[in-house]
Amino acid sequence: ATPTSIMVGTGKAAKMGVLFRKGEALQSLRDAKVIALDKTGTLTKGRPELTDLVVAEGFEEADSLRLVASAERQSEHPIAEAIVNAAKARGLEPAGVQEFEAIPGFGVAAQVEGHRVDVGADRYMRKLGLDVEAFAQTAQRLADEGKSPLYAAIDGRLAAIIAVADPIKESTPAAIRSLHAEGLQVAMITGDNRRTAEAIARRLGIDKVVAEVLPDGKVDAVKSLQAEGGLVAFVGDGINDAPALAQADVGIAIGTGTDIAIESADVVLMSGDLRNVPNAIALSRATIRNIK
Ligand code: ADP
Ligand code: MG
Repeated sequence: ATPTSIMVGTGKAAKMGVLFRKGEALQSLRDAKVIALDKTGTLTKGRPELTDLVVAEGFEEADSLRLVASAERQSEHPIAEAIVNAAKARGLEPAGVQEFEAIPGFGVAAQVEGHRVDVGADRYMRKLGLDVEAFAQTAQRLADEGKSPLYAAIDGRLAAIIAVADPIKESTPAAIRSLHAEGLQVAMITGDNRRTAEAIARRLGIDKVVAEVLPDGKVDAVKSLQAEGGLVAFVGDGINDAPALAQADVGIAIGTGTDIAIESADVVLMSGDLRNVPNAIALSRATIRNIK
């Protein structure tokens, strides 16, 4: 492509709210074979809500939720906000937290009113040496509904299974249809539970799922897609997405996301509307075609 055609192309892109930080990205985007997307905050709104709470024998629903929500008040994770909001909606007063620790990719640990409270993924419970088998059937059902199952332990005993669901953005289904129409493979990379991720992928017609990825594992996920499928564009919004945005052949950040993601990207979408991804690809193809 000539410098002029690239200038015209990036100018047109800017008008539709797609900022190319590097002219070469227009060309790499045209050649992309796989579009990999982060789930939370990219395919979904990133604002999960608590949908289910089932307590184990010997635990009381309101009491358990109050302790769990008190611990989560210290966390900045969107899941924590869902749990805190649910407790608020039920009029539960938060309890005092003496100690708190976030374990990225796993969950949180806290000391609440003299009780040890742990909340997180099944792999966090396993790390604590707790068996989540009692909730296996419930967890499968929730995951098949596209909800993310979490577990709470109180004083070292499995107390509850909690599900949160993050609504899919309105623009997501149309964006995926357009990507498929352009002949691209669509992949999802997420730290979420595999069964939940697969249920969501099935619903959206996503071709490939890389799930249960730890916060620093998204780079390897992008590398393995590159090894299999050619040029990869990765779309993400979060702090954890920055290394993957840099690793991808084209890193596309959502402009409403975190600063570090934006700084690591080649392309920035001014809104969270995912239809701008296929729009930018169509534009890159039209721009390069014009000068041939
Ligand atoms: P994602 O952004 O895909 O949720 P994270 O790496 O932030 O990925 O978290 C991975 C998993 O760890 C979450 O899906 C959840 O199961 C668990 N987790 C992380 N933080 C919390 C928290 N504050 N409360 C409960 N669970 C958590
Ligand atoms: Mg995200």
